Amino acid sequence: MAVITKDELSKNVAEEPSMMTGSTPPKGWLETPVKFKPGNYAYPTKAEKLEYLNSQQGVSFPNARVWNPEDEDWKLPANWKEIIINGLADRLDRFRSLKIFMDCCVRCGACADKCHFFLGTGDPKNMPVLRAELLRSVYRKEFTLAGKILGKMAGAREMTAGVLKEWFMYAYQCTECRRCSVFCPYGIDTAEITMMLRELLHMVGCGINWAMEPVSNSNRTGNHMGLTPQAFKGNVDFLCEDVESLTGVKVNPTFNRKGAEVLFITPSADVFAEPGLFTCMGYLLLFEAIGLDYTWSTYASEGGNFGLFTSNEMMKKLNGKMYAEAERLGVKWILGGECGHMWRVIHQYMDTMNGPADFLEVPKSPVTGTVFDNAASTKMVHISEFTADLIKHGKIKLDKSRNAHVKATFHDSCNTARAMGMLEEPRYILNHVLEEWHEMPANTIREKTFCCGSGTALNTDEIMELRMRSGLPRANAVKHVYDQHAINTLACVCAIDRATLTTLMNYWVPEVEVAGVSELVGNALVIEGEDRQELTEGLRTLV
Ligand code: SF4
Ligand code: SF4
Repeated sequence: MAVITKDELSKNVAEEPSMMTGSTPPKGWLETPVKFKPGNYAYPTKAEKLEYLNSQQGVSFPNARVWNPEDEDWKLPANWKEIIINGLADRLDRFRSLKIFMDCCVRCGACADKCHFFLGTGDPKNMPVLRAELLRSVYRKEFTLAGKILGKMAGAREMTAGVLKEWFMYAYQCTECRRCSVFCPYGIDTAEITMMLRELLHMVGCGINWAMEPVSNSNRTGNHMGLTPQAFKGNVDFLCEDVESLTGVKVNPTFNRKGAEVLFITPSADVFAEPGLFTCMGYLLLFEAIGLDYTWSTYASEGGNFGLFTSNEMMKKLNGKMYAEAERLGVKWILGGECGHMWRVIHQYMDTMNGPADFLEVPKSPVTGTVFDNAASTKMVHISEFTADLIKHGKIKLDKSRNAHVKATFHDSCNTARAMGMLEEPRYILNHVLEEWHEMPANTIREKTFCCGSGTALNTDEIMELRMRSGLPRANAVKHVYDQHAINTLACVCAIDRATLTTLMNYWVPEVEVAGVSELVGNALVIEGEDRQELTEGLRTLV
């Protein structure tokens, strides 16, 4: 899919008629139907993927078919409206937060300009308040007295095929990043509304392939990439060879080893593609440096969980493998790699969905003796927490000059920042492994961080222009630091970020590369007995 040039897109965002440039749409939003055209929607789920998933226990994904959002007829079930309204009633009953979010918005507008999709597209329906209104209007019609009697005057509308199409368009123009919720005086979490919209859409077979294919792969082989156990192990083995040839350090990870102290789980992207591969090499070196008694699993071979972007049931099913594998292997606790949404699932849902994991112990670092009380219920520790603790106790030797080629800024992943509150640990690590790094402006970092623009399964190429638009606020902040300090690296702690920010930087700030924090740790590590080559680009050096 061809994407317009950076200059054209910049001009378009700044000058074309949109709410962002002060123009008023000619018609109200209720009278403005969605129009699907190539480039503004992600491709629907392939029929065979949906058929496979619908055949699995504990989940329901009906209405597999070949269809196209640009067609008038979406081949919905005959009783689709009834399915949707019943599905909404069921969710209002099960999720008290949804009921509250449907009732308590006062339309103050504080959230309106906080969404990167609105900032990048200027489309009013990308204002969080209006995105929620797409569902709220139907809720009012079906579930409130005022809506039933007064209809449009009370902000109510009928559920129609046009409304369903609008849901599909805008539920997949929200990355569930929750930035808007930080600014809402009532704490309304539009991400949860998007999650409900996506669940309802799945009830009539309207999902996107970029979410459902990884879900299907994960359900089948344990990871998004669909790597078989042999391929997964083979990929890690290749990385071990690279580590040895670069540093002279022989790393010997084990797989599916019963009785190991720690089970390590990371997003499969870390063993599959650059720049995640370099982050993975950093993990391998760190574990070797401290002599960690750990094992990988070729069954729980994915930290990420695209079920989060699909349905509660699917998220629970995919997440279940982590505890199941920890119990089977008899480990004491779980260490997790750099990922964003993986940690949202772990911190917000894992314990109640698949716990309690009483067969595990409260994580305790075998090197420093630190007990991670924050992980007392989940029994799972983030690699940045683990590494920061090692540094604090002086248990690893670091040489900042080995990162002399790096001048960085740091991107807080939406999920580790807003869903987990992990703000200090990556910064603490950067302070110890880099000679120089700089923060982006205060209103774009920490809890207020801007999304990469392509999370929640929107990192698909057919919507590249949309991604470059929604990533503009993040890229703009990076550009600001680049202009001030000539940085060349955007550090982050999320596998999706590593993939999506690389594309985003290539487009908006091509001078800046993307690196995982653990890669920078691996660059700086001084390991006894090493025979390191001249690594002018750290673990990325071609030798
Ligand atoms: S900030 Fe909260 S209350 Fe105000 S319009 Fe947005 S969602 Fe509604
Ligand atoms: S959750 Fe993020 S993407 Fe979704 S409406 Fe809020 S700010 Fe926009």
